[in-house]
Amino acid sequence: MPEGDALHRAAARLQPLVGERIEAESPHPRGAATGVARVVDGRVLERVEAVGKHLLLRFEGGVVLRSHLRMSGRWRVGPRGRAWHGRPWLVLRGGSWEATEWNGPVLALEERPVRALGPDLLAESTEVEDVVARLRTDPTRLVGEALLDQRLVAGIGNMWLAEALWHARVSPWRRVEEVPDELVAAVGWAREAMRASVRGVRPRRMAYRRPGRPCPRCGTPIESLGLGEANRRAYWCPRCQPGSRQGERSSGGGGI
Ligand SMILES: [Zn+2]
Repeated sequence: MPEGDALHRAAARLQPLVGERIEAESPHPRGAATGVARVVDGRVLERVEAVGKHLLLRFEGGVVLRSHLRMSGRWRVGPRGRAWHGRPWLVLRGGSWEATEWNGPVLALEERPVRALGPDLLAESTEVEDVVARLRTDPTRLVGEALLDQRLVAGIGNMWLAEALWHARVSPWRRVEEVPDELVAAVGWAREAMRASVRGVRPRRMAYRRPGRPCPRCGTPIESLGLGEANRRAYWCPRCQPGSRQGERSSGGGGI
């Protein structure tokens, strides 16, 4: 799943099309079935922004295209008229650039901004203290679940969760109320690392997708276990980040 920083990079790539009157088409039949190209064709693209895990393309007339890339979706931007390999779901052509959206699966038109999302961790106006205050509104929630709840803070996915908690030495299975200082450290670390990633600087991965491999700090094998909804998995060092979930067995190896 693309994380918030990947969406910010996509938003940055799309900027050359802002201010342009867009020609739109959907070569892929499933893209055509969304009806998006028909609605945005001929409209000026006014703004592109990443809000959490959503990419919002605002067109004149209040039309907002919302793209949540999920697992496989990709935006590419290049000179107009390039040859494609395959059929994009959506093509947006400006005067000299064109953007293509591949593999869907979600292209939805919205009339309003996404209201349910919490503050975007990458936004300049978002303060770590405010994010932590929101997380504390549900003090008995598991730290790992709270940080992934996009209604509380938008932009953190599995990878940044695992890395931030490792750096802050807090287990994803602790309750929010149990680890006040560590929570501040984790949110602060995630914000800085994600900002660096927007600039192209990627930190070395310490825990994410390293089950059974030694913790870079203490050598204990990293553990992993499903967390909350499907498609989410926690990775942590049981020694540096004490506090496993009671009543459930974790897998020290295998799996992803
Ligand atoms: Zn460790």
